[in-house]
Amino acid sequence: MDSEQLREYGHRMVDFIADYYKTIETFPVLSQVQPGYLHNLLPDSAPDQPETLEQVLDDVKEKILPGVTHWQSPSFFAYYPANSSVAGFLGEMLSAALNIVGFSWVSSPAATELEMIVLDWFAKLLNLPEQFLSRGNGGGVIQGTASEAILVVMIAARDKVLRSLGKKALEKLVVYSSDQTHSSLLKACQIAGIHLENCRMLKTDSSTNYALRPESLQEAVSGDLEAGLIPFFLCGTVGTTSSTAVDPLAELGKIAKSNEMWFHVDAAYAGSACICPEYRQYIDGVETADSFNMNAHKWFLTNFDCSLLWVKDRYALTEALSTNPEFLKNKASQANLVVDYKDWQIPLGRRFRSLKLWMVLRLYGAETLKSYIRNHIKLAKDLEQLVSQDPNFEVVTPRIFSLVCFRIAAVDNDEKTCNNLNRSLLDAVNSSGKLFISHTTLSGKFVLRLAIGAPLTEEKHVMDAWKVIQEEASFLLASQVK
Ligand code: PLP
Repeated sequence: MDSEQLREYGHRMVDFIADYYKTIETFPVLSQVQPGYLHNLLPDSAPDQPETLEQVLDDVKEKILPGVTHWQSPSFFAYYPANSSVAGFLGEMLSAALNIVGFSWVSSPAATELEMIVLDWFAKLLNLPEQFLSRGNGGGVIQGTASEAILVVMIAARDKVLRSLGKKALEKLVVYSSDQTHSSLLKACQIAGIHLENCRMLKTDSSTNYALRPESLQEAVSGDLEAGLIPFFLCGTVGTTSSTAVDPLAELGKIAKSNEMWFHVDAAYAGSACICPEYRQYIDGVETADSFNMNAHKWFLTNFDCSLLWVKDRYALTEALSTNPEFLKNKASQANLVVDYKDWQIPLGRRFRSLKLWMVLRLYGAETLKSYIRNHIKLAKDLEQLVSQDPNFEVVTPRIFSLVCFRIAAVDNDEKTCNNLNRSLLDAVNSSGKLFISHTTLSGKFVLRLAIGAPLTEEKHVMDAWKVIQEEASFLLASQVK
């Protein structure tokens, strides 16, 4: 490492990146390239001799950027957001600079200790129950993604049951969630060896705005108990991926508790909003949960990846995931004086991810972060109103946070024609390059999703997006009449 070269190249790279952000609105939001485009543009093998930074950056401009979908564009409204910010960025830089591999406390004490402190800070911002803080048996940990978070808690819950009932019980273990739960739950079941026929994705509908009904859960649990099966894991969601449905945590938690099930709460997207007192109600009942997860990398100005997981019983995790090879033994770990995060996750190695979250919290402060969230929610509320005032459109589920679910209304059309119209609208809007939205289906309806949450998004971007959607819809509806 030549620090003077780093200084020179680093400055040039920062200039390149700052220029990218400055001109981000000039790119099509959704990349318009065809599959395999890059094969034709890059050589078949790596260079034998060094090339210059200029050459590489020229290729980034000409060959890589056309194949990038610009998640940081202010007109990116697809999926859920993936925030970047100056503070998040600087934290990433510092983490890359130190480049530690913090598997156990001794491998870099500050990495473990800062992570514990920052997750305690965050738990307090969310007003999580005391048991999730690190001073007792609980604590927080940064995972790469919500999918990893759900997997590790499922493994912890599974092993807890199998330790008392024996390994043969595995085939009887049953998992519960709503049919709106993110697909990461099923993936976790696959990896954890849960029989897929024992995964109950309980049906929801518009009568509860796609939230899980406690009666459905109770009924399923009772049926499984009668059949000699073992209910062991419940996943509730606050802010489902399709439509931000909020499961009733307190009532679900009661059922989980009386059946000795592990209760996990997935608030991957909506958790960020719950630092605002007026949105905290959506995680009421979290005190009944065993674990709680939210992605700071979605809507909390923290660059990907940074998924926050809290557990009440950290020993459930470490009993399932600990290893203690000779080459990692050290006095602090042997004396049980420290947390070794390698035992709370799947991989051994881990990055110094708490730095970026710490920088976000310090450089912006909680009040600015709350205003940031509130602004996106206000923009979404305004958009929801505009959609509901346009006779060509309908809002499909009431908006709660910053996602608006809508579609061209089915007036004289049958459902199939209406779905096709909306599919065409999605294609037309996204291929314009002016904005990027995504879709889902709810009760057989093809639904458009517009999620506001990119840091650069302002009112004018939302209004421009709505104008494009209206224009494309009018065009489609007019051509349908002909
Ligand atoms: N849970 C919910 C509610 C989500 O919306 C998502 C992704 O959008 C996930 C889980 C999966 O997130 P990750 O990519 O962090 O695994």
